[in-house]
Amino acid sequence: MTRPYNFSAGPAAIPEEVLQQAAAEMLDWQGSGMGVMEMSHRGKEFISIYEAAEADLRSLLAVPANFKILFMQGGGLAENAIVPLNLSQGGAVDFVVTGSWSQKSFKEAGKYASNRLAASGEASNFTSVPDAASWKLGSDAAYVHLCSNETIHGVEFQQLPDLKALGCNAPLVIDFSSHVASRPVDWSRVGLAFGGAQKNIGPAGLTIVIVREDLLGRALPVCPTAFDYKTVADNQSMFNTPPTWGIYMAGLTFQWLQRQTEGSLTGVAAMEARNIAKAELLYGYIDASQLYVNKVDKAYRSRMNVPFLLRDESRNDAFLAGAKARGLLQLKGHKSVGGMRASIYNAMPLAGVQALVDYMREFERTSA
Ligand code: PMP
Repeated sequence: MTRPYNFSAGPAAIPEEVLQQAAAEMLDWQGSGMGVMEMSHRGKEFISIYEAAEADLRSLLAVPANFKILFMQGGGLAENAIVPLNLSQGGAVDFVVTGSWSQKSFKEAGKYASNRLAASGEASNFTSVPDAASWKLGSDAAYVHLCSNETIHGVEFQQLPDLKALGCNAPLVIDFSSHVASRPVDWSRVGLAFGGAQKNIGPAGLTIVIVREDLLGRALPVCPTAFDYKTVADNQSMFNTPPTWGIYMAGLTFQWLQRQTEGSLTGVAAMEARNIAKAELLYGYIDASQLYVNKVDKAYRSRMNVPFLLRDESRNDAFLAGAKARGLLQLKGHKSVGGMRASIYNAMPLAGVQALVDYMREFERTSA
């Protein structure tokens, strides 16, 4: 291990094997005489990269055949507009707001649809989520939106709500940007999932949208053609030039994911087991310590993003400087929450979390 451990919330660490393979293939992809960035997206070389990436993602996430996988651009924030443009039909949309990212989605949708607040965790400073039974879901909602992992507040749904059981027939839209591929997705509860790639999948610039086929073809007339999911789906994500480098890097990451094992588990199931172990190690230490605190309701604590505060905030800079000196990078918390945040995505090994906990223990001992 020569590289430091990188705890960035995103763009975030990429598995070293993936970076090495990309470096080795940078000038000449598999004897083609071209680097991937230099290839036509319509040539057979890139089409083979695209098809493998799509098929691998489908199998890793067990995406059913009646869902389309789209490779788009614009990130999560563009999807905050693209989703209502495609699905709202100008009607009403219900939002479950559990942190900064779903709050942004709620606001942006108001430009295109009647955005209604079905539930909000704001009263708890986004440290918890109102019980699903209390959500105010309208019978006329075009869809219900939630962010299944709030990257800034460190709040994650451990289970997606079963809207039908709540008496709501609308499709569920999830923003899974910051925990995609870290755990399985229950597609029986989802109509559409979107996420930027720059946390668990690869470099920034690629957005993944997985959408149930019956939701295609509903876009408002003002929807830009390049953002109409039906157009994108009908053209295998090549209506316009797709983010070819991002798709290639995602494909390498999917192959890396397929190679991961934990006991008898492979792929996303192996990642989930590893991510549970990483999160238990870190939260377990924080909860037992006198110096550090994580305020999130245990039922909703994120396995991916662990915000924590030092009870003595005057020690923040010293903590960060010491961490950096030990090769533990990008631990500063988001400015809206303060303190620290350790993002421990798929590419972070258990040894990286152990190194962080060892440092936290040492810092606590020397600060006492
Ligand atoms: N949603 C979530 C959950 C995020 O974490 C982020 C980025 N951190 C976004 C949306 C916005 O993504 P982008 O900056 O790629 O638009």
